[in-house]
Amino acid sequence: MGIVMDNHLDNNSPDQTKQTNNVKMLILGSGPAGLSAALYAARANLEPVVLTGMELGGQVSLTNTVENYPGFPDGVGGQELVDLFQKQAERFGARIEYDTATKVYLAQRPFKVQTYNGEYTTETIIIATGAQAVHLDVPGEKELTGRGVSYCATCDGWFFKDKDVVVVGGGDSALEESIFLTRYAKSITIIHRRDSLRAGVILQQRAFDHPKIKFLWNSVITKILGDESVKKVEIKNLSTNKKSELPTDGVFIFIGHNPNTQLFVGCLDLDEKGYIKTDRLFSTDVPGVYVAGEAGDPTFRQVVTSAGMGAAAAMQAIRFIQEHEEKQSVVVQSA
Ligand code: NAP
Repeated sequence: MGIVMDNHLDNNSPDQTKQTNNVKMLILGSGPAGLSAALYAARANLEPVVLTGMELGGQVSLTNTVENYPGFPDGVGGQELVDLFQKQAERFGARIEYDTATKVYLAQRPFKVQTYNGEYTTETIIIATGAQAVHLDVPGEKELTGRGVSYCATCDGWFFKDKDVVVVGGGDSALEESIFLTRYAKSITIIHRRDSLRAGVILQQRAFDHPKIKFLWNSVITKILGDESVKKVEIKNLSTNKKSELPTDGVFIFIGHNPNTQLFVGCLDLDEKGYIKTDRLFSTDVPGVYVAGEAGDPTFRQVVTSAGMGAAAAMQAIRFIQEHEEKQSVVVQSA
């Protein structure tokens, strides 16, 4: 989603030339976590502002079909689900801004957040910046990205009609996206570094049963080769250490994600992988700043869990605002 750019713990004056918006709750990110937080905050009359980041809807908007979000027994399109989330949050007064946070100032409240288009002061922040795909880091990957190398079957599958592609990974994403690619590609070879899959059994069975999908076990890609576009991959068999080449038109890589949290380095407590640390109630180490979804969740990473975290983080932020307003009114009354 690429929502993050830079960070500042100090409260030195941000860019004075930009227009400042004063809000009670600013939500960074517009995936299931951000839009669910927006729904709850909007229903509490807080008129939350959601900064979409680069991609309205985040990763789920790039997913073809979501089959495990409750309430949709026949599945729902990823983009369609995002549209419904957005519509529901806006119905109660959430404002969606196509903008991205570039700096945060968390040393005192109200917090300050600079964006590409302006500047916000806010009583609370919900960080729902999500995560992005991990790269293989092999020669040819960067050069051929967009020319045969892809991290999104929903976005790029269409370009591989009647072509041969390889998929890297052995988790749910690799299998789900491989099954999606069978709509277009002539063959899909899943290259996995071990001899057993991490993916759930239902997906495994579907992949094993599909005539277009085959597996290359105990193997990794060591090079992606091609000039204008991908032509072949160099593969190393990890059991024998032997290298070979496999002709292919596309390389789809699904080997996990990294959290989009660079903006908060130095401002918030992060774990060694960059996930923001929270307590059980989604609070960070800065009171008034909460995290929902994959920016703080290396474990579940589901639409439904992210949406649930968004709702819970918003409820906590609503309580925080109420408590501070009550304290202020006591101070005013006793003055
Ligand atoms: P994942 O479960 O972490 O799987 C990543 C896969 O990539 C693993 O098989 C791993 O191999 C492999 N891998 C990692 N680094 C590699 C490298 N450098 N070279 C080659 N292979 C490498 O990631 P995911 O599939 O994106 O899923 C993430 C989470 O989202 C999971 O909790 C998953 O259940 C969830 N998810 C759910 C659904 C669904 O329910 N429909 C769909 C998509 C994702 P090893 O197995 O050897 O570690």
